[in-house]
Amino acid sequence: MKNMPVTRSQIARRTLLGRCPNCGCFGIFKNWFRLHKTCPGCGMELEKEESGFYFGTTSVGYVLAIILVIIPVCILVVLEVLGMWLGVAIGIAGSVLLCTLLYPILLCWVVLVYYTVQAEELPENAGVGEKK
Ligand SMILES: [Zn+2]
Repeated sequence: MKNMPVTRSQIARRTLLGRCPNCGCFGIFKNWFRLHKTCPGCGMELEKEESGFYFGTTSVGYVLAIILVIIPVCILVVLEVLGMWLGVAIGIAGSVLLCTLLYPILLCWVVLVYYTVQAEELPENAGVGEKK
């Protein structure tokens, strides 16, 4: 295995804090739901995997909403703690709220997983292999 200037643990730490995995520059988020097209620090393309990142994030959001909101609400409805329609309303509102609030965090995780798995893809790391 070749030595990479940016290690996987560095990538993980940077991305978890909302920083660019390549240079560690802060501010890869354009807004709550979107990444900048390129990193303001190093110019790396952040949206290269755009559809994949956002699709992955939304999927993770759904799964979390089911586990954290839908299932508990269903149990409460079955136990007759909540009425049927109140349960439905809480389930929908809770899922939307959860996905919205957690979106940037989930997006960080998806970007993190992507670049940790493919650490060689970072410009900082890819350049080294070509020079030698
Ligand atoms: Zn950067």
